[in-house]
Amino acid sequence: MDKQLKLLIGGSLADGGAGTFDVVNPATGKAFAQCPKASEAQLDEAVAAAKAAFPAWAATDAGERGAMLAKLADALEARVAEFASLLTMEQGKPTRQAMGEIIGSTYVLRAFVDKRVEPVVLRDKGGKTVTEHRTPLGVVAAITPWNYPVMMLVQKLAPALVTGNTMVLKPAPTTPLTSLLFAELASEILPAGVFNVICDENDLGGKLTAHPGVAKIAFTGSTATGKKVMASAAAMVKRVTLELGGNDAAIVLDDIDAKAVAKKIYEGAMTNAGQICVAIKRAYVPANMYDAFCEEIARLANEAIVDDGSKQGTTVGPIQNRQQFEKVKELVEDAKLHGKVIAGGEALDRDGYFMPPTIVRALPDDARLVREEQFGPVLPVLKYDDIDDVIARANASEYGLGGSVWGKDLTRATEVAQKIDTGTVWVNQYLAIDPRIPFRGSKQSGLGTELGDEGMLEYTQAHIVNAVPFEDA
Ligand code: NAD
Repeated sequence: MDKQLKLLIGGSLADGGAGTFDVVNPATGKAFAQCPKASEAQLDEAVAAAKAAFPAWAATDAGERGAMLAKLADALEARVAEFASLLTMEQGKPTRQAMGEIIGSTYVLRAFVDKRVEPVVLRDKGGKTVTEHRTPLGVVAAITPWNYPVMMLVQKLAPALVTGNTMVLKPAPTTPLTSLLFAELASEILPAGVFNVICDENDLGGKLTAHPGVAKIAFTGSTATGKKVMASAAAMVKRVTLELGGNDAAIVLDDIDAKAVAKKIYEGAMTNAGQICVAIKRAYVPANMYDAFCEEIARLANEAIVDDGSKQGTTVGPIQNRQQFEKVKELVEDAKLHGKVIAGGEALDRDGYFMPPTIVRALPDDARLVREEQFGPVLPVLKYDDIDDVIARANASEYGLGGSVWGKDLTRATEVAQKIDTGTVWVNQYLAIDPRIPFRGSKQSGLGTELGDEGMLEYTQAHIVNAVPFEDA
């Protein structure tokens, strides 16, 4: 890549004070660009710039703030192909999925353009009033993962900015470039300091969350890092939203066609090479359909075109980084010891981090691939006899992010869905995330809410004003 992207601090595009680092294309395993690396002094500058910009931004009319989100959406839309191409290069996903992420990001920005946080009158009787007002918090530290770098950015930026906060973003070190390209575009639209972007090599996240100038942390990433973020927030009782890992179960009911449902579940498990927080990560199938389901999903896995995401026709791209590739390989090797691999199972013998879609049957519930978040193109298919028992098995997880139930009888499927202890359960669909619908995790999958009105309110502080007429006596 010829162009050198820059950090955004206080409205200026800046070189990295700590030099640069390599950004690797996961389809080749080779560096294709350099990313500016922020120094600690630049982190301080970014927080100071966001803090300085906050009063004027908070005082700006919400309509004007919304209009700037609309401009950001338009500017992103005008450069979809450029963003998608860079996204595929740094993240690995096939071009069509990269286009989907960028277009989806414009929807998220637009979903917040007209949002307003109005005071709510809780009581108004005999001159006595109780009103809840909401004000922005200040500087938001946004920290994003490497699976959907642009989508994760806008899901935080849009509600934070429309409610009057300013932001310092730190993207994941293996996918920083689309965030920097977004920063370049934002630098022409937003007032200086409202949005700042710094990049690191996994060394500045903790410093950013601990920074005394930060009022709220909006974090998406693994549960392990989320725990560190929560601990760091505790020191100053900072507001924190955590969107963490998942181990979503798909429960297939016995009134559905095995072949048709296998296709849906395959897609829910393998999109973005399985690197989605709410990807289907375990499938539970009734005993009488188990063989037919396994046969069909293995057939679909074997049909996948696994290649560089920038090549036309590729359906499954590489795993995003070497560390995750090694972890997925380790889980597959462990699964071979306890179950039967019926598709995939061997990393491709080529450069880059390629694991073909892998289906494993006959694993016990305590196998690592069933218990842990694989975050890769590998799916265990598990058999069940009894519906109550399978609900208990689906719920026997430290995670509680998403899940799905598949059945012809919608009433029955919905009843089962209600018994799944996760933030979201889809019925007969998957990955249906909508910026107007709140998204959250139960148990160790997260804390707080992102998206929807509820997610937006997490960027505000509620104040109750409780007034009665003064009585002389
Ligand atoms: P990660 O936890 O390794 O990293 C996430 C971010 O945290 C990166 O920007 C990283 O640099 C930063 N970081 C590292 N150490 C930090 C620290 N001590 N303090 C603050 N920040 C720190 O996660 P990842 O591997 O990039 O992403 C994959 C994980 O993200 C998966 O578990 C996935 O399920 C989860 N995820 C969750 C959602 C959701 O909405 N719930 C969405 C996407 C991904």
